[in-house]
Amino acid sequence: MYASLAINHRIETLKRRHVEFACTRSTTRTHGGSEERCPLRIGPIYTPAVAATATERKLLIGGDWVETGEWLEVSSPYDGSLVGRVAKAGAAEARRALDAAESAMRDPIPAHERAAILDRVAALLAQRTEEAARTISAEAGKPLKAARVEAARAVSTYTMAATETRKLVGDAVPMDASQAGAGKLALTLRVPIGIVGAISPFNFPLNLVAHKIAPALAAGCAVVLKPASQTPLSALFLAELETEAGLPPGWLNVVCGQAGEIGDVLVDDERVKLITFTGSGPVGWKIRERAPRKRVNLELGNATPVIVAADADLSDAATRLAGNAFSFAGQSCISVQRIYVERESYDAFLERFLPLVEALRVGDPGDEETDVGPLITRSERDRVLSWIEDATARGARVLTGGTLDGELLRPTVIADAPRDALVSCDEVFGPLCTVTPYETLDEAIALANSTRFGLQAGVFTSNVKSALHAARELEFGGVTVNEVPTFRADQMPYGGVKDSGNTREGPAYAIREMTEERLVVLQL
Ligand code: NAP
Repeated sequence: MYASLAINHRIETLKRRHVEFACTRSTTRTHGGSEERCPLRIGPIYTPAVAATATERKLLIGGDWVETGEWLEVSSPYDGSLVGRVAKAGAAEARRALDAAESAMRDPIPAHERAAILDRVAALLAQRTEEAARTISAEAGKPLKAARVEAARAVSTYTMAATETRKLVGDAVPMDASQAGAGKLALTLRVPIGIVGAISPFNFPLNLVAHKIAPALAAGCAVVLKPASQTPLSALFLAELETEAGLPPGWLNVVCGQAGEIGDVLVDDERVKLITFTGSGPVGWKIRERAPRKRVNLELGNATPVIVAADADLSDAATRLAGNAFSFAGQSCISVQRIYVERESYDAFLERFLPLVEALRVGDPGDEETDVGPLITRSERDRVLSWIEDATARGARVLTGGTLDGELLRPTVIADAPRDALVSCDEVFGPLCTVTPYETLDEAIALANSTRFGLQAGVFTSNVKSALHAARELEFGGVTVNEVPTFRADQMPYGGVKDSGNTREGPAYAIREMTEERLVVLQL
């Protein structure tokens, strides 16, 4: 099944690439007893032997690619075909990974070297975005168009993390501002918090991993990463690039497998100082509850609302919304879900919006033309269908979609959904949005705020006063104006309030979370 010719070819390619990028470290380190030196420059070459093939990957622990004898199969959400397999870890491998991370952190990497490694990962990824996009598409069922955007964004995440590494500073403290401080000088240093445990979801299997492991390295923290079991290949691809970029052993460890077992080790082991979790609310909040003495950063779900005022450019709003309510079949935490339109423009908006939704191409995510692919599992698709049934049974109307195209759920627009229907108040995480007319802006804001979520929200209006009023009153981590709230640039502070989370990602913000401020007082 896993062709050995392909394996050998891949191994040779990896070794060649590795030599090109390994001549960088300026300190002396050994790995597995062997140390090689680049004739031109400085540091040792870490030879992380064999990453594996494009379809068969091993765990990364302490710089070694590790097999466990057990495998986790990765299959296509589109047609169930086998995409690959990864070595399966449990508690023992998670503990070994923590040992490796602990030992790595005993030998800190200076900021300029961390930044250089991050820059090299960005460069390597930029060369291989098509491979990254195809891996994302195959394992997550994400349409290629969207997968390419994700791969390009991951390059940006690494670039920003490298920039932030070079800017990582503390503050000066104005000591003579009080009598007690007179005659003293004080400053704060930003020191790494310690080992970071990272847990990532299936829906952005490359860039959301990048948003954890790039800032961690920028902050000087070693990481033990547990990627989503449905999509571990993209994470291991990124790990391969990090090792090719010269990351010394132990700074990044990737363990795939039993979520509960690995999660328990990360929660229980005192060496893990911070857990960064992106995923569903119940899992995230439970981890936080169980680890009161750690920093637990949560990036969770949303039921994303958008307000379209009558004075908005309706065509522009309709185009942006049709493109973003259904991208990756709605499986983004900021996929547009609830659209509130001022009543006088409601019909005019729908006249523009519905044909655009109906024109979206549903199909094979590997097809260049596909806009909307599968949900991650058939049971997820059936759950969304049952939510549509729940809404229609309570008086809602399906304006378009609501049925299957082959095995795939068509983009669905629902009107007249009761406020307490699941599609109105919970996270659909599928290709579905509701449309609802409103009378006043404050009514729309109250509707937008009416769920337990608070990640991002949007408002379309040509009135600056209305935009700023909405921005102030919407209880969300971010508010977009005349842009869909699905928008994210990777340097933005990104995160939620209420049930949507308790932190901000984006390298500059994540690095702050992953470092502690240490005060230094000098008697002059
Ligand atoms: P999920 O089921 O919560 O899984 C997320 C991660 O948690 C996976 O790696 C999963 O591992 C792991 N996990 C599950 N149970 C665990 C446990 N007991 N201990 C430790 N780890 C555990 O979420 P998902 O279905 O992958 O992702 C969808 C959710 O993520 C949605 O709610 C979405 O809104 C949210 N999300 C939020 C953001 C954001 O930035 N705010 C971004 C993307 C997604 P297994 O895969 O092995 O089960």
